[in-house]
Amino acid sequence: MFKQVKKRLTFLYTISLLCLLFLFIGILYFLISHEINQKQVDEVNGYFSKEKMDFMEDLYEKKHRGVEYDPNRTIFYYVYNQEGNLRYGKEVFQNLVGQIKKTEGNSSIKRMEWGKKHLLLVKKTLVINGVLYGFVVLGMDITGEEHVIQNITWTLVGMTLFFSLLFAYLGYYFAGQAMIPIKRAFLKQEKFVSDASHELRTPLSIFYGSLDLMQREEKLSAYGLEVLADARAEAELMNQLINNLLFLARSDKKELPLRLENVNLSELLENTCKRFSRRKAESIALITNIQKGIYLRCDELKIQQLISILLDNAFRYTVDGKIIVSLDTRNERLIITIEDTGCGISSTDLPHIFDRFYRADLSREKGGTGLGLSIAKSIVDAHGGKISASSIEGEGSKFIVFFSREK
Ligand code: ADP
Repeated sequence: MFKQVKKRLTFLYTISLLCLLFLFIGILYFLISHEINQKQVDEVNGYFSKEKMDFMEDLYEKKHRGVEYDPNRTIFYYVYNQEGNLRYGKEVFQNLVGQIKKTEGNSSIKRMEWGKKHLLLVKKTLVINGVLYGFVVLGMDITGEEHVIQNITWTLVGMTLFFSLLFAYLGYYFAGQAMIPIKRAFLKQEKFVSDASHELRTPLSIFYGSLDLMQREEKLSAYGLEVLADARAEAELMNQLINNLLFLARSDKKELPLRLENVNLSELLENTCKRFSRRKAESIALITNIQKGIYLRCDELKIQQLISILLDNAFRYTVDGKIIVSLDTRNERLIITIEDTGCGISSTDLPHIFDRFYRADLSREKGGTGLGLSIAKSIVDAHGGKISASSIEGEGSKFIVFFSREK
């Protein structure tokens, strides 16, 4: 149980820290790359604003002047007329002009890879007084900045990995620290239950003895006998409660001794059903569907207790109808099913029925202590099995117990 809580706490701590880390890294990456990219675009835009009139002149030069090559420039450009014919340009990379696709739209920003180079291209229209005269594609080499962004990305990825591992470790460590007081409180409570149940046994047996003595030695009136019978019934209930608590306390401490032997489960189930059917109400039909000759390596008394708890509940919560008990094998698994057509369990109660002292409101007046199913579950757990319940309120309940045959 502690391991599971620790796992969940570790998971929650780690996820929370990772969410914060991803948010921080994401924002940092966005801000840095946005700042670098924006600076480049601003530089190109600034150049366009400054040179716009020169571009217009280039457009109206009678003679087509072609493209001038100047490797020392920072910003290169190509001026096109309205029809998209290249009029003039200054280029940094020869033959690039053929690669530039003239994008539609008034202004557009494109980043492209050309060989090993990363280029920024900005298309600007030449519009004066609402009349379109042509457009210019301006560009600059952003390979250096791209490498900076790539380096930042890899650094951030590395940091994310490193901090993820660190946070997983921290999550595990903090979960362990948080578990210490929880563990201490749980063990204290476990010891208290175990000690209290032990200590209560002696006064209870003295109380029992006194009741017996009173019954034998005293001449009691009819009323006195009634009171004595009530006291006995209550003492019996308390005895049952103490035994159940002691059982669970031992099971928590893993002190539940199991006397494992090869048990004929089919016979055990048949006999327990017979015992119950002798005292069942007429209105209930007990149907058995038990495969013969099925053996399980288990503690016979405990498995009998498990079946009795489930059958006792089925009879207690069924006024009329059927109770079906079956034993089956599937692959290497052994399946005991106890199904009834009783009052059923509401969907709000169903997830809690294996909790200690949990009783649905409907069942309060039916007797019982609310520990039966907790005990059933600890018996199944001790045998490495699984127990599950399904139910439809008003229609009935079904309890299934799985055991592995290899045990
Ligand atoms: P209890 O002593 O109250 O029967 P259990 O631990 O055995 O305690 O069961 C817990 C609760 O689960 C019961 O109070 C009851 O509400 C519900 N329950 C268990 N078995 C059945 C059943 N066969 N049909 C309807 N409700 C059931």
